[in-house]
Amino acid sequence: MKIGCPTEIKPQEFRVGVTPNAAYEAIVNGHDVVIQAGAGIGSGFTDEDYSAVGAVIIDTAEEIFATADMIVKVKEPQPGERKMLREGQLLFTYLHLAPDPAQTKDLLDSGCTAIAYETVTDRSGGLPLLAPMSEVAGRLAPQVGAWTLQKANGGRGVLMGGVPGVGPAKVVVIGGGVVGTHAARIAAGMGADVTVLDRSLPRMRYLDDVYGGVFKTGFSSAGHTAELLTTADMVIGAVLIPGAAAPKLVRREQFATMKPGAALVDVAIDQGGCFETSKATTHADPIYDVDGIMHYCVANMPGAVARTSTIALGNATLPFMLALANKGWRKACADDVHLLNGLNVHAGQLTYEAVGTALGLDS
Ligand code: NAD
Repeated sequence: MKIGCPTEIKPQEFRVGVTPNAAYEAIVNGHDVVIQAGAGIGSGFTDEDYSAVGAVIIDTAEEIFATADMIVKVKEPQPGERKMLREGQLLFTYLHLAPDPAQTKDLLDSGCTAIAYETVTDRSGGLPLLAPMSEVAGRLAPQVGAWTLQKANGGRGVLMGGVPGVGPAKVVVIGGGVVGTHAARIAAGMGADVTVLDRSLPRMRYLDDVYGGVFKTGFSSAGHTAELLTTADMVIGAVLIPGAAAPKLVRREQFATMKPGAALVDVAIDQGGCFETSKATTHADPIYDVDGIMHYCVANMPGAVARTSTIALGNATLPFMLALANKGWRKACADDVHLLNGLNVHAGQLTYEAVGTALGLDS
């Protein structure tokens, strides 16, 4: 099979769908890999890194879309890319079709077969191709929060770990899933005093079993959150209610009870945010002030560490990419129901029920 990887063209996207290591594995498995010139640069991979493992560098996306059997990307295809997809071609990338009727129509019209990273599942009911980005965003959250806390950035001027004789920052993480757990681990590693709030008792039992002594757990009730807000230096929003907008768990009127210059890092901003005052920001201008409380609300946090994110995503997608290339999508999906769950579009048909429901196409 010929696997093609074009340069990502969505603004601010520096990741690449195929790493040199992934290209090498595909080639060792007997496949051809074509990479657009410069596709890896944003993640620190040169064209030479790809040609050294046997991939062929192609100048234009047009040539890649015209000749590859499978296109492997990161972001959903942009309108110009969608025009180049063709019948029988396999597309393997993040799609997020539910809120995107224009993309859905174009994919259906193209006749391609599209497998979406975000709906591939695993045995424990998790989403293995979303998890690496949650891990990245979670680990990044205390890092950007610590920067936000610095005085020159409008923050409270508190050092995460304190110093001998001066206590550490108090960090509250709301939501103890993938993002929250990774955020709490890093914040604790920086020396902060960390409490993770969740509403799931089984999840808190798990966190307590594994991380007891590293950070504390607490039940996420309005009253308990309000109490912790009064002493928090940093609050990290990491909740998710699948398929729904994030609940607003901190209200503006509560800022009056908080320490001036405290930092709110809303990782859940891609689901609307879990603080009342959150609005999406960009890496170019990531923080803003509401009533003396500093907000960091970047919707694509993994983009800040594109190299780590690309490698983490590539590690997770590689086994699926190889299965698709080695067996063809029909056999690969027949053999693995979790990969089949990723099938969103085939030959002009929408094959993922939740997308059809969201777009009102299910009647
Ligand atoms: P997850 O499903 O692993 O964890 C979510 C947790 O929230 C669960 O443990 C759940 O019990 C808990 N929760 C639900 N309601 C709660 C409440 N009222 N109070 C406290 N906890 C509650 O999800 P995740 O992978 O950790 O993702 C968390 C959020 O981060 C999602 O919105 C995701 O889209 C977002 N995210 C953002 C970025 C970014 O760049 N901004 C990157 C990755 C993920």
